[in-house]
Amino acid sequence: MIKVDQLRISFGTHEVVRGVSFDVPRGGSFGIVGESGSGKSTVLRAMAGLNEDWSGRIAFDGNSAPLKRPPVFFRQVQMVFQDPFGSLHPRQTVDRILSELLLVHTLPDIEKRIKQALSDVALPQTVRFRYPHQLSGGQRQRVAIARALIAEPQILLLDEPTSALDVSVQAEILNLLADLRQARNLTYVLVSHNLAVIAHLCPQLGVMLNGEMVEQLSTDDLRAGRTKHAHTADLRTLS
Ligand code: ATP
Ligand code: MG
Repeated sequence: MIKVDQLRISFGTHEVVRGVSFDVPRGGSFGIVGESGSGKSTVLRAMAGLNEDWSGRIAFDGNSAPLKRPPVFFRQVQMVFQDPFGSLHPRQTVDRILSELLLVHTLPDIEKRIKQALSDVALPQTVRFRYPHQLSGGQRQRVAIARALIAEPQILLLDEPTSALDVSVQAEILNLLADLRQARNLTYVLVSHNLAVIAHLCPQLGVMLNGEMVEQLSTDDLRAGRTKHAHTADLRTLS
């Protein structure tokens, strides 16, 4: 279970996240939509421990973080970014990229885990010794997902995970994410501009506007126009 309570984040004097609260049950999926610059990625980065300069509460399974970034976060909570080309090191092979987190956590059976991780995301073992530029966009995103899952996290934070991909590849990645969530009882928080992407994975979503989460509702209600906030209705046209 994820509980975000009154999260506030500023850069200098600019408060870009202004009291955001939401809950996600264990094994659930929560979507976040909202216009560019509304603070979606900033919320995810704080949850992933990539930005420690926030106030409020971020709790996983009822445990508030005693430190802003306790080491356990690195295993429990992983993030997948929009552009896998940007997030995968260009001079590291897939093998090296996948082994990094295993080495950090001194996990055993590195070889076996890498093989399993590749098969979990339906990539052939032959990609192990390739570099990111030798892979297709969809394959790169599969590597990024394999890296996120390799140390067996409970929570995946997905920031526009399909928006850099062709439409047909988008569907493949969304189906993969749906299958993985079910197989491992993962909890997802998914940021997307695309309501169809959110609808694929998330029954509930929150709408961000200028750093606030102005409404939380079911994806079905949003699609049907049953919204309380005028801004939310505009999001129906997102695709
Ligand atoms: P998009 O849909 O375009 O990805 P977003 O909702 O994810 O937008 P954020 O990236 O969270 O938006 O940015 C929210 C605001 O915070 C923006 O005004 C952005 O310029 C600002 N911001 C984000 N990161 C930083 C930073 N490291 N330093 C200063 N300002 C930042
Ligand atoms: Mg963003």
